[in-house]
Amino acid sequence: MVTFDCPWCGEPAMVESAEADEVVCEGCGVRAALAPDPVAAPIARAA
Ligand SMILES: [Zn+2]
Repeated sequence: MVTFDCPWCGEPAMVESAEADEVVCEGCGVRAALAPDPVAAPIARAA
């Protein structure tokens, strides 16, 4: 488990692992998919 402050409610939220693709917050009940870094791809293409 990896815990961090939920960006929606500030309560501790967690992901199952560093490779998880979903975050779950017990504070506000949100479940959000984590997308791969959307900024890295165009930068990599431009380089
Ligand atoms: Zn939350």
